[in-house]
Amino acid sequence: MKFASQLVQFDAAPGDRFRPTSTPIYQTATFEQEHADQFGDYDYSRSGNPTRSVLEAQIARLEGGTRALAFSSGMAAITAVARTLRTGDEILADSDLYGGTCRLFTRILERSGINACYADAGDLQSFAKKITPRTRLIFVESPTNPLLHVLDLRALAALAHANNALLVVDNSLMSPYLQRPLSLGADIVLHSATKFLCGHADLTGGVVVVRDLKLAEEIYFLQNAEGNALAPFDCFLLLRGLKTLKLRVDAQQRNTLAIAEFLAADPRVEQVFFPGLKSDPGYALQQQQASGAGSVLSFTTQSLEAAHAVAEHASMFQICVSFGSVHSTISLPGCMSHASVPPEIAASRKLPPELVRISVGIEDAGDLIADLDQALGTTSVVPEERLISRGFSR
Ligand code: PLP
Repeated sequence: MKFASQLVQFDAAPGDRFRPTSTPIYQTATFEQEHADQFGDYDYSRSGNPTRSVLEAQIARLEGGTRALAFSSGMAAITAVARTLRTGDEILADSDLYGGTCRLFTRILERSGINACYADAGDLQSFAKKITPRTRLIFVESPTNPLLHVLDLRALAALAHANNALLVVDNSLMSPYLQRPLSLGADIVLHSATKFLCGHADLTGGVVVVRDLKLAEEIYFLQNAEGNALAPFDCFLLLRGLKTLKLRVDAQQRNTLAIAEFLAADPRVEQVFFPGLKSDPGYALQQQQASGAGSVLSFTTQSLEAAHAVAEHASMFQICVSFGSVHSTISLPGCMSHASVPPEIAASRKLPPELVRISVGIEDAGDLIADLDQALGTTSVVPEERLISRGFSR
């Protein structure tokens, strides 16, 4: 079955004698047992819940994994993966990573003697030099966030396996519609399901997907033991959002490409980061390992003041953290989503403070471009040489 069909063709309520066509919300903490020493399929919702089972099976299928586990947030999913490590183990992560992931690795895991080290995974040779005999996980996002660098996932999987480590890919920016890292060799795929999987910014959730059944058992053990699984109502909302994943992402990508082309030609914009543009250094690799470039892009303006002015004046782009919703949003990662990056790591990441990130929704592309155009019009005067280099003359 093609992906578009898989999104809606699945057993919504296995074993339910009323045969509902959408998955019921099993809003219960407990399930009655036949006998004290005999458990049914479910006994307690922390350990398992039918609404969650349908969601997990559906996400495992879409990512091409054998099992998925759903958590109360993307951070809870990442934490569960990190919990598979022991004191003395190390994580080698790409340096352009979501701020909250960095905070978890650096400020929380180090309390248990688990160290994270960061390097540019785009430069494979120097990245490989950071591997030590204690490296257990290589952790990346591709395209990275917020600089949209494309990483070679096949090469990173080979590097991890040659060093007895696992490759973990945070696939939140792409969704399984555009990229399936397990098929490229990754061992663990995870998502902030708050983003594209949900698509409507009305829940927080996370998922971990794996192929290896032993690893799946271990992550299930953690989900149950630590009690951070996704609640039944949120599982229902996520299942509902997932059905339109392809329709939403197709519309969002069309809009994003039009906006990227507009921004790339605009002299008020310094640089556009988007692997959907043929001029982007990541374009060819993105074409090889994914079926689209997604709908998040970043650009730099002339100054921090100009970046603030664009964000404040773009009326169709709500200023908010996160991405992947049907409505367009704008953010300044340096002071929002990535403000939690510890200062010493932030300094080495070279994240431009004047970077603006937009997540493009399903509105009309012409309206969105007109809105960005007027917002850019509120920034200060453009230097003459930039006007000339982009083919404008006063
Ligand atoms: N991964 C990425 C790429 C993110 O952008 C985020 C949040 O913005 C997370 C993980 C964490 O997810 P959540 O906010 O659902 O905990």
